[in-house]
Amino acid sequence: MVRAQDVHKSFGHVEVLKGIDLEVKPGEVFCLIGPSGSGKSTFLRCINHLEKINAGRLYVDGELVGYRQQGDKLYELRDREVAMKRRDIGMVFQRFNLFPHMTAVENVMEAPVQVKGANRAQARERAMQLLERVGLADRAGHYPSQLSGGQQQRVAIARALAMDPKLMLFDEPTSALDPELVGDVLDVMRDLAESGMTMVVVTHEMGFAREVGDSLVFMDDGVVVESGHPRDVLTNPQHERTQSFLSKVL
Ligand code: ATP
Ligand code: MG
Repeated sequence: MVRAQDVHKSFGHVEVLKGIDLEVKPGEVFCLIGPSGSGKSTFLRCINHLEKINAGRLYVDGELVGYRQQGDKLYELRDREVAMKRRDIGMVFQRFNLFPHMTAVENVMEAPVQVKGANRAQARERAMQLLERVGLADRAGHYPSQLSGGQQQRVAIARALAMDPKLMLFDEPTSALDPELVGDVLDVMRDLAESGMTMVVVTHEMGFAREVGDSLVFMDDGVVVESGHPRDVLTNPQHERTQSFLSKVL
């Protein structure tokens, strides 16, 4: 579903991704861990067309991200083409980013109506189903300010799902939450994983990574240091850098 081959990304003279190689298989929960500044968010943003890579190849669902290939030449995609591709990828951030002037159900139905031109009544019905799925059917009429952080984050997940993405990206979805609210959000993510969704999850929740993850990558300083099954990497890390990181977070 995602294939990175020697992906490089720089901001000015600073190289943040220094040749990332990895593969996320369809239906997999792929966890990404690593210290602050190692390039995890940047990599997610590249997958989602929010950043353009400088070198290497990045594919989502078999298609190049950001470019069209003709013969051996690459052409940058136009904004409209990028927008079309971004529809297929859901992203959930650390901060919930809901529209504050819209209720929960309006937040969830917004993109299908505005971007896909969906019928409002149908979009609302679908949004209600999604809110039910994340355990918030009874909060549909609440505004974000009337919801807890965990509830807002679950609305954000429902909103991303409303576009029927083939891939969901999560960037530390629980790290801004009070500890007692983390579990509900992780439960929703666990259900989503069980439904077969392909998920790339940047997280500090090692319990989630171990129980739900199918693969885990430890990134440091813009490179993949170590990867494998979460259980193996977390209990028996091979590299000194992985060991040192895990000793601080576990
Ligand atoms: P954290 O765990 O703190 O979220 P991260 O692994 O997600 O860290 P990134 O946010 O990807 O790290 O940042 C990697 C590096 O790239 C950092 O040094 C950051 O300062 C730099 N960086 C990120 N975005 C930009 C930008 N738009 N312009 C310049 N530098 C940037
Ligand atoms: Mg980050």
